[in-house]
Amino acid sequence: MTNITNNLQSVRKRMATAANACGRDPAELTLVAVSKKNSAQAVREAWQAGQRDFAENFLQEALPKQVELAQLPLTWHFIGRIQSNKTRPIAEHFQWVHTVDRFKIAQRLSQQRPADLPPLNLCIQVNVGDRDNKAGVEPAEVVELARQISALPRLVLRGLMCMPPESDDIDTQRGYFRILGQLRQLLLQHGFQIDTLSMGMSGDLEAAVAEGATMLRIGTAVFGQRQAT
Ligand SMILES: *Cc1c(COP(=O)(O)O)cnc(C)c1O
Repeated sequence: MTNITNNLQSVRKRMATAANACGRDPAELTLVAVSKKNSAQAVREAWQAGQRDFAENFLQEALPKQVELAQLPLTWHFIGRIQSNKTRPIAEHFQWVHTVDRFKIAQRLSQQRPADLPPLNLCIQVNVGDRDNKAGVEPAEVVELARQISALPRLVLRGLMCMPPESDDIDTQRGYFRILGQLRQLLLQHGFQIDTLSMGMSGDLEAAVAEGATMLRIGTAVFGQRQAT
């Protein structure tokens, strides 16, 4: 077995253990393998080990990888910063976008989603407490942005995403993820049909599962340590 196959097994085991520990069904959890800075060959190995969902942060890196792997039935998630002049290739080449934090971006994705593809699945990125990182809408603005996005064609608002500040303390980690869980409740009360909380990475997946995560975005624990840039 390759490292990636082994790693995938241990990540799936960690997810199942975390789900069982809080009385959740492990089948509610989707592992999204974050393949940034890893080769198409690494993605292929993960696919051979049963992995289907992959995420990328950078278009210039993702698009050639997708071309190379076009024969495989993979689901691609975009999880990077979105510049408004780069929305078209995202709308054309991904099934999910997790990092929408402005109406203008959603509007462009809606206009540019090709008519022959199913609607693009979208998550609103929320800033749950990282003062240094401006990515994500403020919690108080989530309902209004959800309202605006829901009116757009060619998109389906699936839920919320966050990337909290790093912490080694599970209670601190859970505190950040709880904000997203509470916002999900708020959206459900407002009648939005959302089913996704995209939260949890290699270092904090247990905390995320305990607070209701449905999509775990895991890079390092699947592919190993990335090269520094
Ligand atoms: C890189 C990245 C991940 C994965 O992080 P790991 O710590 O390697 O698991 C998840 N989400 C986003 C948005 C990322 O940029």
